[in-house]
Amino acid sequence: MDEHMKYPTLDSLDCQGKVVFVRVDYNVSLTDDGQIRDDARLVASLTTLKELRQKGAKIVLASHLGRPDGKRVEKYSLLPVARRLAELLDCEVLAPDNCIGMEVKKLIHDAKAEQVVLLENLRFHAEEKACDDSFSEKLASLADIYVNDAFGTMHRAHASTVGMVKYFKQKAIGRLVEKEVSFLGRLLTEAEKPFVVVLGGAKVSDKIAVIENLLNKADKILIGGGMAYTFLKAKGVEVGKSLVEDSKLSLAKRLMERAQTKGVDLLLPIDSKIAKECRADVDYRVVKNDENWEGWMALDIGPETIRCYADVLATAKTIFWNGPMGVYEVPVFQQGTDEIARLIAKSKALSVVGGGDSLAAVAQAGVADQISHLSTGGGAALNFLEGQELPGLKVML
Ligand code: AMP
Repeated sequence: MDEHMKYPTLDSLDCQGKVVFVRVDYNVSLTDDGQIRDDARLVASLTTLKELRQKGAKIVLASHLGRPDGKRVEKYSLLPVARRLAELLDCEVLAPDNCIGMEVKKLIHDAKAEQVVLLENLRFHAEEKACDDSFSEKLASLADIYVNDAFGTMHRAHASTVGMVKYFKQKAIGRLVEKEVSFLGRLLTEAEKPFVVVLGGAKVSDKIAVIENLLNKADKILIGGGMAYTFLKAKGVEVGKSLVEDSKLSLAKRLMERAQTKGVDLLLPIDSKIAKECRADVDYRVVKNDENWEGWMALDIGPETIRCYADVLATAKTIFWNGPMGVYEVPVFQQGTDEIARLIAKSKALSVVGGGDSLAAVAQAGVADQISHLSTGGGAALNFLEGQELPGLKVML
């Protein structure tokens, strides 16, 4: 637990005999026949739920699932999630077919303390995303205490993350949110130096604000993935058919100048694995930046770049990584991403890895347990690192 945590945590709650509304993130991927592909989000929520049950709370869970666009869509029902959760919690999970209304209220009232209620998908109501006040009030009327443990939704001002919170005297962040805020907060306020940031992924445009803010915090920024080629082109490198955001060239130039002024090393690939097409059985070669690769595209960082980034990572005391170094979905272009995952795992630095692709790479390399914190916050984590106060956190104060 983090004693500098400014948001109220479960420690502050008096839950005995109270109904606790917990906003969770059960937005899992389902197969066509309604099976849960990966129950990691459910498993992750158990710490908070078990603790609340131990404190004598009656738990009401709420989540969104998929994009039903404000109407009831059967394939986005949380019913399969309720079934799996019942197994994981080893208790009965009651699953009403709505998230508001008199029947739901009665079901919660009649539920026994050892049962858990999982409301139906919040986004079956357009009012959820619209942060409608009357809907927020109806949700709030279901419980005595509010807990948010869905960090990945806290950058959105929706009824369940913001609108309903004002109706509660007792409120807290759950343990998952606490862990995210604690680790991401450390990156921004007390990262031990050298602080090395590794950024990859397809586009520069998604990461501009993060780079801008981290230029004030990091000592070195290592760039890979598709976004590297916008930077390289801005430096005058001929990058062939590589992914380039032409509208961001001058911005990329400005970011490199800012890095120089601030004394931050912003490193770009010195060699790349290139191919004419992006497929598994394609011929590829490795080129340096000054070679001619007209008609080819860069799909991974090359071996010299990996060595150079390895040297930098070896000196780091704090590391943050988001975004793959290449098209890691295609095995021949996986090496850069895979090696970065292993190097970060091997490092003794405090390491935080975020973003779906980087998390998948860490899992695929079998090194997930060697990373200090795996951030599942997605866009919310990036917004946090941009220096924004997330609306869902602001209301918790
Ligand atoms: P993002 O969602 O921005 O983190 O981007 C992830 C995607 O970037 C993955 O699907 C990768 O295949 C893709 N990507 C990584 N490197 C490259 C590259 N050199 N060219 C094109 N796409 C890339």
